[in-house]
Amino acid sequence: MRRGFFALYLLLMVTLACQGLVPAAPTPTLTSPPPTATVTASPTPIATTPPTLTPPPIELSDPADFDVRFHPDGGLYVGDLVSMEVIAPLDAEIDGNVSVQVVNGEGEILGESTFAPFGIGGRQQATLEWMWDTAGLEAGAHDLSLALLPGDVTWTETIVLLPQEQLGLPESESQWAIEESDCCLLYYLAGTATERDIQALGESADEQAQDVADKFGIDFEEPIEITLMSRVIGHGGFAAGEIYISYLDRNYTGSDFDLVLHHEMVHILDSRLGGNLRPSMLAEGLAVYLTGGHFKPEPLMPRAAALLDLMVPDSSSDWYLPLEMLADSFYKSQHEIGYLQAGALVEYMVETWGWDAFSSFYRDIHHPHGGKHSTAIDDALVIHFGVTFAELELLFREALLEQNVTQDYRDDVRLTVYFYNTARRYQNAMDTSAYFLTAWLPDGPTMRQYGVVADFLRHPSSPEHITLEALLVSADGYLQIGRYREAAGTIRAVNWVLDAMDEGVAEPFLAHPVAASYYQIAKVMIEQGYKLQQVQDQGESVLVLVNEFGSELIPIQLDWVEGQWQMEQGQ
Ligand SMILES: [Zn+2]
Repeated sequence: MRRGFFALYLLLMVTLACQGLVPAAPTPTLTSPPPTATVTASPTPIATTPPTLTPPPIELSDPADFDVRFHPDGGLYVGDLVSMEVIAPLDAEIDGNVSVQVVNGEGEILGESTFAPFGIGGRQQATLEWMWDTAGLEAGAHDLSLALLPGDVTWTETIVLLPQEQLGLPESESQWAIEESDCCLLYYLAGTATERDIQALGESADEQAQDVADKFGIDFEEPIEITLMSRVIGHGGFAAGEIYISYLDRNYTGSDFDLVLHHEMVHILDSRLGGNLRPSMLAEGLAVYLTGGHFKPEPLMPRAAALLDLMVPDSSSDWYLPLEMLADSFYKSQHEIGYLQAGALVEYMVETWGWDAFSSFYRDIHHPHGGKHSTAIDDALVIHFGVTFAELELLFREALLEQNVTQDYRDDVRLTVYFYNTARRYQNAMDTSAYFLTAWLPDGPTMRQYGVVADFLRHPSSPEHITLEALLVSADGYLQIGRYREAAGTIRAVNWVLDAMDEGVAEPFLAHPVAASYYQIAKVMIEQGYKLQQVQDQGESVLVLVNEFGSELIPIQLDWVEGQWQMEQGQ
């Protein structure tokens, strides 16, 4: 650790000596100019009417139409168990009768998989999980042949394997480890931030489990299995038999470990209590309500009421999502608005009819004819409370209108939506394995069985990725403490860079002064052998938190000297 500091110190001394007489450039601000009237966060547009003219299905003769992705994401190394996603073109009529076969250079079949919907988003793709064991292969380029079956469409994908020796810490030495707390078995990756904090995480898990058990009035029967992922996937939490939670220092989705864990634990006990349908809107609403917030503790009713005050730009619509539509397409609706409304709705129902009556209703919703959740909810509402779904919505909206909505609530809700839309935009553009609708989420027990760590540890980490993630972490930090002006500006910086990248601008980080500053800091830290995790603005100076060899977080003070951010002398 000291060697790196010393090298940086020497470099800075040289820099200072050479540039002593150069006039200093003005200190760039790491916070941002105030938001302008045009900076509003628009919720993701809701799907409207289908197009009247459907384009003809494309011919399946051009392999270039298929998007092929490899895992683990962030470079492939000798020794990896490589997975592949072959994503069908949007307009293609490909179903489970079509498969992809992959053959290596020696003519051996590595795997075959039929096309099927993948992830929450149901993307049509052939998924070949851990199909190629690269242990013992030469570093360098390898050709894999892909064939669509049946048919004669074939093409070649060239994969470059990097030498195993180039795999840095912690991954080169990481392996699965386990921590046992009262409630839980926590699986984590050695050498990462999860190992550093594992004791506190176990204690927190016990507190959350106790709270969830108290709220439901039943205990967890078996230890809860929690897999801690050292990379961001989705919004940081999933429950699928066991719980998966992202825990890392540069967690750019800002998810709070305690809240996400509590939310996912609610899903586990909720499913154990049973019920025929348990519509997504109410299941997620229940988790948000019992957790007291979605991504952070939040008063649900007044924040949901703020949606009625926020307007979609160039329209007369507010941000509130009609409940019938929300119930029927919950996971495809604007994420933060959907969860907030669902949580507030469950709170309203529990406050109105009591927990027992709500619980009886919720567990007595049945799969309807036609498959619409809204119909099922409507039927159960009439039986249990004598109101239709439409009448419930009128009552709910009346209750929202009685809430005391402050400007802070409006700002916070608006910027929360803006923040998460931006984080997802980043994922879609640059960290595609993480995007929640099609997240790459291999099975934890199987990963542990085969000793696979890379899928939950490695992720794209170029200076560009690190910079944008650090900006998102800062934006979330500003949001958490109510510094809305800085939050808005920092989120805007990310968007301007992504806009510039979309436009093919040569130096996209120059699109925004805050982004340019972060980019310079990221590059300086990388050059000095540090992994940048967080940037904290301290006015005239900046405190960065970095790792060097291990997971220890090292604070480094930077000053704006001679036109660039430099370490303070003596650090
Ligand atoms: Zn959930």
